[in-house]
Amino acid sequence: MMAARDPEPEKLGLAAWVGEIFAPMVQRRVDIGRGRTWCSRWWEHPEVAVRLDALRLAWYDLTAPSEPGGDPGAGVSSWWVNHVDPNLMTLLDADTGPMSGCRPGQHSASPVPVLATEPVPPRSGL
Ligand SMILES: [Zn+2]
Repeated sequence: MMAARDPEPEKLGLAAWVGEIFAPMVQRRVDIGRGRTWCSRWWEHPEVAVRLDALRLAWYDLTAPSEPGGDPGAGVSSWWVNHVDPNLMTLLDADTGPMSGCRPGQHSASPVPVLATEPVPPRSGL
């Protein structure tokens, strides 16, 4: 007889996860003098929202209960070192990052635009 599997743990949506799990545990000095910034309206920035959602999904994957005999800390450590740290380097970059038009506590009326593209000519085969 197969053992009953635990039901899939409920995952918070992105806004709730950022507000209840991610933001309350991330401590970074975000001021322009240090070359870092953060926008409390992070959801207004497409790249930020997509990256944070990827971090959310990785959080649930990597912090799930480990197999018996596994290393329960390894997944959490991997989440920080391999996912959070490199993403924050890009996200918080006050010079070139997606929130670089904003200041802590002040969303810009003209945030950094997404990359421009032009229609691909049909003959390109793309
Ligand atoms: Zn902003």
